Amino acid sequence: MAINYDAYEVVVGLEVHAQLLTRTKLFCGDSAAFGGEPNTHVSPVTLGLPGALPRLNRVAVEYAIRMGLACHSDIERNNYFARKNYFYPDLPKGYQISQHTTPICIGGRVTIRTAAGERDIQLNRIHLEEDAGKSLHDIDPVYTGIDLNRAGVPLIEIVTEPDLHSGDEAYAYLTELRKILRYLEVCDGNMEEGSMRCDANVSVRLKGEKALGTKVEVKNLNSIRNVRRAIEFEAHRLIDLLEAGKPIQQQTRSFDATDGTTFALRTKEEANDYRYFADPDLPPFQVTDEFLETIRASIPPLPEALVLKYTRELQLPEYDARGIADDKDSAGYFERLIRHTTNYKAAANWLLGPVRSSLNERSLDWKDLPIAPDSLALLIRLVEEGKISFSIAAERIFPVLMQEPGRQPLDIAVSLNLLQSSDTSEITAWIEQALAGMPDKVTEYKKGKKGLIGLFVGEVKKLSKGKADPKLTNQLLLEKLEN
Ligand code: ADP
Ligand code: MG
Repeated sequence: MAINYDAYEVVVGLEVHAQLLTRTKLFCGDSAAFGGEPNTHVSPVTLGLPGALPRLNRVAVEYAIRMGLACHSDIERNNYFARKNYFYPDLPKGYQISQHTTPICIGGRVTIRTAAGERDIQLNRIHLEEDAGKSLHDIDPVYTGIDLNRAGVPLIEIVTEPDLHSGDEAYAYLTELRKILRYLEVCDGNMEEGSMRCDANVSVRLKGEKALGTKVEVKNLNSIRNVRRAIEFEAHRLIDLLEAGKPIQQQTRSFDATDGTTFALRTKEEANDYRYFADPDLPPFQVTDEFLETIRASIPPLPEALVLKYTRELQLPEYDARGIADDKDSAGYFERLIRHTTNYKAAANWLLGPVRSSLNERSLDWKDLPIAPDSLALLIRLVEEGKISFSIAAERIFPVLMQEPGRQPLDIAVSLNLLQSSDTSEITAWIEQALAGMPDKVTEYKKGKKGLIGLFVGEVKKLSKGKADPKLTNQLLLEKLEN
């Protein structure tokens, strides 16, 4: 009998580790930068040498709170760090410093948008912890290398409630979360390089059932797309097991991106005993009202607020508003652009049209766009004033401006002889040439096939290489054809 997958509800909780963009590590002055020659960002604190004492990085605390405020979490005022004890080669101290019972951000929510509409995903917590080092298995056939540059780099772990119900929702959540992290400039959100990492906890239950099913945790998900694939695969696998009357074991599994399947890494017999206790080397720390308010004031407008501003104040269609707000840097550029033009719709059309495709073609980011906003505004003005057509501006002038961003759009138009002609005799000459080339069509027009006017206008446009002022062309054509 066919399995009715629709009888089941998928339940997903995501744990995201985001590497904070601080200059230094969480508890010492070593560089927190990605990469570097192995084991060059390693002071005695990172190495866990006896007697080395940790000291808390204030900026990391600030970034964690910034994320919490953006996600509407409550901020814990009285904090301490705990030692989470376990043995692993990439963990020289034998424990990880983390937050245990007092995550710095409690609860909160992230609003997602899917085909089904808008929904808030509930967060459980956001806490601060240090990263571990990295084992390198592929540089020597026998030995495993250890690079401790990453050990001690600050992370926030963002944990949702078991509140997501499909791969699509997880996809939307992670996309939104990454957007917020990037807007806040607390994490670069690069899943391929591992500065944003996600574990997916998945279970299934019959619809209507209250109790949660046994979960599996999938690791090694290095893209948002793979998180979706893994959840979809796991949901099917778990339902198949239940339908076959087999028990589900609580497991940690790994995702294989080549075929979209997962395989078991380890089965959890019982809960790990990490022997948590407050780190005696780090005094508890308080978040004061003053600190909190400074952080609150430093939060830039987030995508949702920008979408509201663009649709309500600037009257842009929602599609345009979302397109611009999708990326912090495109929104930043747009904000600077509209200081120089009030033609908001044209500004949006330019950014989402020629500018975005040109950046894509060259694999550039918004922040690499060489053209200054005031210069693009001048180009928009030339079109507005009818000096050039939009297509000439986009196809002929804009590419030159990308190459030579220092030049004036008007100079480029003049030097390429692209200024639209409002010279009656010049346009009349093009019209005569156009009509002479298709006498049959002229006869048809005169017999009543008035729709042919478009063809004539098009021909004049072609002959003039787009320079003939379209309004004037139309008017002169009509005069000519009436005779
Ligand atoms: P663990 O101690 O195994 O890491 P937690 O209770 O801390 O488990 O939860 C980790 C993540 O797993 C959270 O995002 C939580 O929402 C999610 N989770 C917990 N139980 C389930 C379940 N039965 N099904 C799906 N997700 C779950
Ligand atoms: Mg876990």
